[in-house]
Amino acid sequence: MVNIALIGCTGNIGRQVCEVVRRHPERFRFSALVCGQDESGLLSLAEEFRPKIARCGKDLCGDGAKDALFEDCDVAFIAAGGFAGLSYTLAAARAGKKIALANKESLVCGGELVMREVRKRGLDLVPVDSEHSALFQCLNFSRNAPFEKLILTASGGPFLRYPEEQLGGVTAADALRHPTWNMGAKITVDSATLLNKGYEVIEAKWLYDADFSRIEAVVHPESIVHSLVCFADGAVIAQLGYPDMKLPIQLALTYPERLPVGKPLDLAQIGALHFERLPAEKFPCFTLAVEAGKQGGTAPTLLNGAAETAVRAFLGGRITFPQITETVQETLAHLPRGSADCFETLEEADLRARTFASGYINGK
Ligand code: MG
Repeated sequence: MVNIALIGCTGNIGRQVCEVVRRHPERFRFSALVCGQDESGLLSLAEEFRPKIARCGKDLCGDGAKDALFEDCDVAFIAAGGFAGLSYTLAAARAGKKIALANKESLVCGGELVMREVRKRGLDLVPVDSEHSALFQCLNFSRNAPFEKLILTASGGPFLRYPEEQLGGVTAADALRHPTWNMGAKITVDSATLLNKGYEVIEAKWLYDADFSRIEAVVHPESIVHSLVCFADGAVIAQLGYPDMKLPIQLALTYPERLPVGKPLDLAQIGALHFERLPAEKFPCFTLAVEAGKQGGTAPTLLNGAAETAVRAFLGGRITFPQITETVQETLAHLPRGSADCFETLEEADLRARTFASGYINGK
């Protein structure tokens, strides 16, 4: 029996983790369920799964309260959204637990801190993001296997074929209509700006200890090939499947064992698979994120704080789609960077970025 502490239980990924647990009650059990804000959602999940601990994130102040969440678990499943996920990932690492990571901001903003803890304690850190799970599978479930290059696939989001001059007029509803994946609102908008793919390049860097020069992103509109690894002899190994997060979620809990999940791939029915260059000029957020990742220190945290603020404003109809990029650019241009030596430094950078971005948006 695997005891899971699930952080972010009422979100899109959290609900799919619950589905996996529901299907295999003989294998999995929740020791703790934590939600962000949806207390009634938490209540109904707690009634169903009867975890020892059920908490709402806002009631968890200080490191002690977070550390206690992981005491009785075998796996810490971090499915919280945004920068808020980082403190839970660090608490799970302090507790010495296996971490199933579905919160990419933990590595985008806190990669240096998280990987330091993971290495120091020899922890099992398993990616849940579909692209990084694909890489993990292609690398034979190893984060240390040798490779030449990592190739991340990107659907291109809903605006791949939109003329650039029309992007100013797109609405939140347009951005939320993702062509292939069903995800939460923030990440769906990040897929539309390609910020998400920039984040995933940074995520791959930390997970696989890869130099940025060895990570590529390519557009693959069908979202069937989830990512690829190139090896020294020229061989390229890919992982394929229908876009369904339940596979990477379940595999993070069971690997190297595989259990049935989802429907088998029907290649003849799918037909052709396409690949094309990522249009980085049309979607500047991709390069902004990769460049912040290269700078390191607090730069990715500043970028993320601005992006979280800007996406909320866009979803609320307060700014246009191109103004998401503009807000991120302005924040990065005005705030000084520092080193990412401890969580408090990152928390401070996050707050400064949010304050600056809000002020910029309100001044428009
Ligand atoms: Mg992904």
